[in-house]
Amino acid sequence: MIMLADKYDSVRRQIVEACENAGRAPEEVQLLAVSKTRTADEVRQLHTCGQVAFGENYLQEALDKIEALADLELCWHFIGPIQSNKTRAIAEHFDWVHSVDRLKIARRLSEQRPADKAALNICLQVNISGEDSKSGCAPAELPALARQVAALPGLALRGLMAIPEPETDPDRQRATFARVRGQLEALQAELPQLDTLSMGMSGDLAAAIAEGATIVRIGTALFGPRHYPNTSPNSQA
Ligand SMILES: *Cc1c(COP(=O)(O)O)cnc(C)c1O
Repeated sequence: MIMLADKYDSVRRQIVEACENAGRAPEEVQLLAVSKTRTADEVRQLHTCGQVAFGENYLQEALDKIEALADLELCWHFIGPIQSNKTRAIAEHFDWVHSVDRLKIARRLSEQRPADKAALNICLQVNISGEDSKSGCAPAELPALARQVAALPGLALRGLMAIPEPETDPDRQRATFARVRGQLEALQAELPQLDTLSMGMSGDLAAAIAEGATIVRIGTALFGPRHYPNTSPNSQA
């Protein structure tokens, strides 16, 4: 409990410091706590520190936690790969989806969003580090996808999400995030409502904030290293 609060303070301080170095206001950057593999109790503890927004990658695990924590007012973000047969539960139980990379998934989320809920907030995931990565829309296809998704009634297109290849050099981290920012700016000419850049994780949050991140997605720096059941510690995603 005390350790979680310490880590939370430390991440908050890192965000404030990165904002100061970038000449940005700390309120411009939202901390998304990535709680995949973490228990509902850990999420509850972090909520007592003041954290409200949580990100999850695996649907069933997320639904169990959402149910166990229904007494709290939390904001749930889906950030993992999406199969078409999972869209209904995502549309029903989440407030944000960061990992939309094709029209078929966006259409289903829009159709399946319950009418009594606000539009589902969407970030398009862009494939920024090249051919090898399986997820994300190719940059060349982004403008057409953004235009089509922006027209879907059940969705509110908010911006872009990117997961660059791991990179330790801060200048190279920044160069990659600068390209994502450039892609958002290009889209904003036609879609001025776009206001979100979801980029930056535990190892590169300062570089992401320097290049305009508005949501940083932080797991390890808040909760410690993840341990996946039935896999070796080195095979985790
Ligand atoms: C796991 C994950 C994170 C958090 O990564 P850390 O390095 O643990 O901070 C952020 N974004 C996505 C999409 C993830 O899957």
